Amino acid sequence: MNWPQNARKTPQHLLDSDAAAGFQISPEFERFSQMDDMFTRAFWDDTVRSRDTDAFFDSYRMSATPRRGAGFSQRDFALRNAAWIVSDIISGRASDRGIREGFQAPIECDTPVAPTQVDLAAPEQEAAGIKRIARLFGADLVGITYLDERWHYTHRPDTRDMTPVESDLPPGLSHVIVMGHAMDFDLVETYPSALAGTATGREYSHEAAICIQLAAYIRNLGFQAIASMNDTALVIPYAIKAGLGEYGRNQMVLTPEYGPRVRFSKIFTDMPLAVDAPRRLGLADYCAQCTVCADACPPKALPKGQPEIASSSRSTLKGVRKWSANCEACFGYWAKLKTDCAICMRVCPFNNRATAFDRLWQWLATGRARKLARWLHKQKRQRSRLKPGDWWQGGGGAP
Ligand code: SF4
Ligand code: SF4
Repeated sequence: MNWPQNARKTPQHLLDSDAAAGFQISPEFERFSQMDDMFTRAFWDDTVRSRDTDAFFDSYRMSATPRRGAGFSQRDFALRNAAWIVSDIISGRASDRGIREGFQAPIECDTPVAPTQVDLAAPEQEAAGIKRIARLFGADLVGITYLDERWHYTHRPDTRDMTPVESDLPPGLSHVIVMGHAMDFDLVETYPSALAGTATGREYSHEAAICIQLAAYIRNLGFQAIASMNDTALVIPYAIKAGLGEYGRNQMVLTPEYGPRVRFSKIFTDMPLAVDAPRRLGLADYCAQCTVCADACPPKALPKGQPEIASSSRSTLKGVRKWSANCEACFGYWAKLKTDCAICMRVCPFNNRATAFDRLWQWLATGRARKLARWLHKQKRQRSRLKPGDWWQGGGGAP
């Protein structure tokens, strides 16, 4: 059922924050079911599932299939899967109940909520304190926004038989703490390769620990806190609302600190915290005239035009004006590789080493002189991929 027809009204403070973030939401908006994301469809949808997709998932467990080609050796897969292992332990511990924590269900609470709540300072002070603790545990970016059920999945899969079950959270939650986890620059420079997937796995393992720890802290203070990674709600709109970045053509949040080289986790809480405002940073405006990621995408899955509301894939959120990928083509390429691809992250000019030149370039690109920035980017030959063999020898990509 479309959102405006189902008797629910979006509260004014969320509409105000939509306007501040530049979100355009049409009457066709529908909440997303996680049954329709590509990873879930690969288990139940015969138009997606194939020998390649089964082998893709198997390769993260015991059936890695090393092959000829730099970056796909046994050593590369061994490192990638080792990087994932902490995340795998968390996501697998309730599998007998059809729950895949952190990916297709929230992380279960390991600590009860303390019966007595601490005395709270002003929301601004408490928000600053939570951000400090999040950084202490290892988060690279932290922002806070209001809970907004439009971004929450209607259903998640019961992973025993991949049937849909309602996705729900306890009542009373009001705020979302969004954390960013920066991926390793040099590993990202080796995309596409199994070696590069180490950067992804390392951050999933990090974020599992960090969001469990921060949730435990908040629960020990006497407030609800649900730790969440890719599960329960779309993290991209939350990261943008929390002021951490803007939405790019490559379907990623572009942050001023790390460009698109960031993964996100979140905590749903009822702790009263001051929220951050969305920021218009000029990064997405640069995308409007740049197609570097779309040009580099092997299956040509990224759009080259302007953001649109219409979408043809059931894996795309309906009713939001945005750049939308051909998810089927993208995931089909991942399945053939037997590892994740993030070429569109690697080649993005906002993914840089933050050298003095990079900082100057970013200053120009975000509004001061975009044309000059585009010209400079063209002159400076695009960084070539870091060869996985060179990474193993201790090499890093040239800035
Ligand atoms: S490569 Fe260009 S178009 Fe793609 S996300 Fe980066 S800045 Fe935007
Ligand atoms: S992840 Fe790879 S296949 Fe998917 S859109 Fe990016 S470059 Fe294309």
